[in-house]
Amino acid sequence: MTVWDDLVGQQQTIETLDRAARDPGSMTHAWLLTGPPGSGRSTAARAFAAALNCPDHGCGECRECLTSLDGTHADVTVVATEGLSIRVEDARELVVEAAHRPSVGRYRVVIVEDADRLTERAADALLKALEEPSERTVWVLCAPSHEDVIITIRSRSRHVRLRTPPPKAVADLLVRRDGVDPAMAMYAARAAQSHIGLARRLARDDDARRRRREVVQMSGRIRSVPDAIGAAADLASIATEESGASSSERDAAERSRLLETLGADPAARTQPPHVRAQIATLEKEQKTRATRFARDVTDRALIDLLSVYRDALVVRLGAHVDLVNEDARAEVDTLARAMSADELLAAMTAIGEARTRIEANVPLLLALEAMAISLRLPRR
Ligand SMILES: [Zn+2]
Repeated sequence: MTVWDDLVGQQQTIETLDRAARDPGSMTHAWLLTGPPGSGRSTAARAFAAALNCPDHGCGECRECLTSLDGTHADVTVVATEGLSIRVEDARELVVEAAHRPSVGRYRVVIVEDADRLTERAADALLKALEEPSERTVWVLCAPSHEDVIITIRSRSRHVRLRTPPPKAVADLLVRRDGVDPAMAMYAARAAQSHIGLARRLARDDDARRRRREVVQMSGRIRSVPDAIGAAADLASIATEESGASSSERDAAERSRLLETLGADPAARTQPPHVRAQIATLEKEQKTRATRFARDVTDRALIDLLSVYRDALVVRLGAHVDLVNEDARAEVDTLARAMSADELLAAMTAIGEARTRIEANVPLLLALEAMAISLRLPRR
C-alpha cells in the first residue's frame, strides 16, 4: 500500500512527485497541479503532502500519511473555497501560516485547491511567498489547466499535469475502494466521463442516476420552441433540486453556530446590530456558494447532454470509439438518424456556448433557453 493508490491512471505524475518527496535535492517549493475536474488533483496534492511528511515517503499507513490524506495533519493546510473567488485577506492569512516552521512533520504544506479562483490581488499577495518560500514550506496549487492560473503564479511554480484517467481504471477504483459491483462501476465511470467523484456518486446514488437519465432523454424531445423552453426549465430545475437538497440544512446549521459563537439568542425576534451585520455577511457567503453550486451542477448536466450528441456523432460517422452513453443506445441512435453530422456539431457548439455564458454570469435560464432552441430536431 502507498499514498498513491487512489490516484488512478497518473503514473507519470506519481513518479515526479514521488521522486521529489524522496530527494530533497530535487525539491521545488511551489507546484502547480493541473488536470480536468475529477481527475484527482486534490487526491494528488494530499498524497504528495503525505509523501513529504512520511518517514517512508508515503507508506499510506502511518499517522503522518493518514492525517495528511484526510486533511487533519497539523502542518498541512488545505484551502478549498466554496465561493466564487479566493480573497486577498485569505491569501494574506495563508502567507502568514506558510511562514511558520512545521510543528510535527518535515514540511509545512499549503494546498490551494482552486488556484484558478484566486483574485488578482490575492495572487499578488502570494507571489513573494512562492518566490522565496521558507526552507521547509511547500506550496501546492491546483487548477483545471495551466491557463486558468494567473501568469505570475504559473511562472513561479513547477507544473505537473494530470490526465483524464481511462474509464476502466476509474471503474477498478470504484470496485476496489468502494465495493461497487463491476458492471455498475463500468457504467458509472463511462457516464461520468472518468470524473472519479461523479462516477462514485452515480454508482451509489439512485437520484443522481435518475437525474442524469432525464438529461440524456431530453435530447430527443426538443422539436418546437415551446419544447425548448420546457427543456430549459427542466434543466434549471434539476440544478435547483440538487443544490437545494444539499444546502438548506447546512445553511441553517451555520447560522445557529454563528449565533452561538456570538452569544446571541437564536430565538430572539430581533438581533443587536453587530449580530445582524455578521448574519448578513454569512448570508451573502451562502448565497455566493449556492450560485456557484447551481452553476456547477448545471455545467455537469450540460456535459452529460453534450455527451449524447457526441455519441450520436460517433455513431453517425461510424467511428469505432466507445460510447459514453452505451446504456442509452436508443436515444443515441434516434439522434444519429434525425440529425446530420453538421447539425450534431452545431448542437455541440450551442451547448458549449451555453456553458461559456453561464460561466460568464449570464442568467441561467436565459442561457439554457437560447441553447435549447438551437437543439430543436430538424424537420424533414
Ligand atoms: Zn507513511
